[in-house]
Amino acid sequence: MLSRSKTPRLGLVLPAYNEQEVLQIILSKLKQIKLDLVRENLISNDSFILVVDDGSQDGTWQVIQDQKLINSNLIGVKLSRNFGHQSALLAGMSEGIKLADILITLDADLQDNPNVIREMIVKYNEGSEIVYGVRSSRADDTWFKRNSALAFYKMCTFLGVDMIPNHADFRLMSQTAVKALLKLPERNVFLRAMVPLLGFQTDKVFYERGKRQAGTSKYPLKKMLSFAIDGITSFSVQPIRLLFGLGMFVTSVAGIEIMYTIFEKMIGNTEAGWSSLMISIWLLGGINLVAISVIGIYIGKIFTEVKHRPLFEIETKTESSIKNYQPEK
Ligand code: UDP
Ligand code: MG
Repeated sequence: MLSRSKTPRLGLVLPAYNEQEVLQIILSKLKQIKLDLVRENLISNDSFILVVDDGSQDGTWQVIQDQKLINSNLIGVKLSRNFGHQSALLAGMSEGIKLADILITLDADLQDNPNVIREMIVKYNEGSEIVYGVRSSRADDTWFKRNSALAFYKMCTFLGVDMIPNHADFRLMSQTAVKALLKLPERNVFLRAMVPLLGFQTDKVFYERGKRQAGTSKYPLKKMLSFAIDGITSFSVQPIRLLFGLGMFVTSVAGIEIMYTIFEKMIGNTEAGWSSLMISIWLLGGINLVAISVIGIYIGKIFTEVKHRPLFEIETKTESSIKNYQPEK
């Protein structure tokens, strides 16, 4: 069991998109947790909270600036527009890792229980480079969200996408792990499938995911579905293989049907063939459409990858009082 030689500097990274109602609540909660952890000597006193304002249209940036006046260990990073949750997390991590030994990413709405941060750091001290926050229950989620999530994880396992079930983006990553993550060049970011690819010693902590404390969800059904499709198609080519299998099967059935038709004709039993004709047209037409659209999705991915657009653009940052950083030896 490895124990770290140095008290780590922790950076808490929060992506925030239109979170003016809840930001102040979570910041004061995190400040208290930070004080407790410093007292226990689990993290250094210059640990910090970094909030990424993902192009909010409400007063989020103003709240960050106001809070900065009473919390010198707060860093604000403002993106030039809304880049989405995953890119905001990456922006926060790439900025935060310049200063911290370990980063913990968590949602700004207090759904990720900050009381397990302590346990995450203990696991880091025991040698883990990545510690996943895993929901022990989804009782607070709606029936639909609970079951659609379950179906999604089942499908991912079936399609060979390696993910930790019931883990979203609440996780601790050491500097080593974050640096490895930032080396991945992809534009289609789906962190919960990218992080398990990194390897390293990992661990899990379990927590009850609470209700959003204020404000509204930024993931309506449409966004959730496109996130799920994106996740699968960015990490697995299994759908193409399945379609190939289906195509082969349908072709074999068609082959048998052709032989049967020739046989019927030879013995002079020529039926009008209306139903088989219609079935063939519809079946093959449908399969063709599905196949083409799946291939289209992958071509779309290649399209976004080759463009190599930056994933985020930082417009401005708050003055940082956290300086004189000594990286871990
Ligand atoms: N978020 C973001 N950019 C977006 C959408 C969401 O930074 O475009 C942040 C949001 O402020 C929150 C986290 O991502 O901190 C998770 O979003 P939300 O709580 O709305 O998702 P849900 O918990 O409903 O799935
Ligand atoms: Mg939420």
